[in-house]
Amino acid sequence: MGISSFNRITVDTEALEHNYRLISSRVADHVTVMAMVKSEAYGHGLITAAQAFARAGCSSFGVAELGEGVELRESGCEGDIFILLGFDHGNIDYFFSHDLTPVLFTEEDLLLIGSAAERKKKKIAIFLKFDCGMGRLGFAPSDAAELVRRLQDMEYVRLAGVMSHFPCADDRHSGNTREVFQLFSRTANTVSGNHILVSSICNSGGTLYHPGTHGDMVRIGISLYGYYPDGSQGQPSSEEQILRPAMTFSTRILQVKDVAAGSGISYGHIYITDRQTRLAVLPVGYSDGYLRNLSTRAEVLINGQRVPIRGRICMNLCLADITEIEGVQPGDEAVLLGRQGNESIDADEIGGWCDTISYEILCAFGNNNER
Ligand SMILES: *Cc1c(COP(=O)(O)O)cnc(C)c1O
Repeated sequence: MGISSFNRITVDTEALEHNYRLISSRVADHVTVMAMVKSEAYGHGLITAAQAFARAGCSSFGVAELGEGVELRESGCEGDIFILLGFDHGNIDYFFSHDLTPVLFTEEDLLLIGSAAERKKKKIAIFLKFDCGMGRLGFAPSDAAELVRRLQDMEYVRLAGVMSHFPCADDRHSGNTREVFQLFSRTANTVSGNHILVSSICNSGGTLYHPGTHGDMVRIGISLYGYYPDGSQGQPSSEEQILRPAMTFSTRILQVKDVAAGSGISYGHIYITDRQTRLAVLPVGYSDGYLRNLSTRAEVLINGQRVPIRGRICMNLCLADITEIEGVQPGDEAVLLGRQGNESIDADEIGGWCDTISYEILCAFGNNNER
């Protein structure tokens, strides 16, 4: 990219490493911690994040689509790479050429993988995904016995594990999590018979809040990026026990201007100044992931102080009220997410302003700006 944008996502890779080590210390030694790096590692950058986790000891990675897995493998990643959302049938060869692990949820895909492996005379490890209560992707638990029979005819397919997913594990007191886990355990037993299989159902919520459900592998996304799935701060006993947010979103002030009391600000004039007001125009808008729902609700950091966003957020612009701060100049830094001086704004707080969760904020900012 030749000319860089005013807007910048910065990722603290040491924070990513710290978070991976911290989560690893929360599970038993035999439990594998898979780093979920789908959607550009929740906006942090697929390769950057995967390399940071690898430095911290990670050797299992989860992505949504095949293309992400291929990119990760070609970047030099040596770990296991799980493809969670299936594949276009024309692309099946990539599983073999790039040593990727499919997580399968239809019989059709299973048969296709089986016949491709047979044709190539090449063994492939697969996982089966069951829907044990999420109401989303996966085989029905009642399919388990039939799947085992199918697999017996597939000489080149090795069933390596079973997966499922919790719908409510971010709730520390969810009774549903116990029910889903029981159904998953029964299903895993049916599938495994006498074989040793890896079982995996936990996301960050399951891992942190429901320690009895870890199985052999946990799949961690949000917490590796520094956030608790329920938006809490956790109850850390020391600095070392705190998850550290890794993403900062910053920009530069484009213009500083003074407007009289009673002036309408931005589209629709939904904000009218109640005093002589100094505004900083920021080159950030909803096309940069700064959601329009943040209009009149958000705050940003300028000169280490919190200041409010006034009026509607536009496609490429928004306005911060800097009346209370002295000496702000065009070109000065404004931080939308992260720390400046002694102040900080995190993705939970921003999510709270626009009725969403940290996950969506990280993806929206991270994937719509230069990193
Ligand atoms: C994204 C994802 C996870 C990680 O969830 P977090 O709540 O971010 O930890 C785990 N498992 C599956 C199947 C996922 O798609």
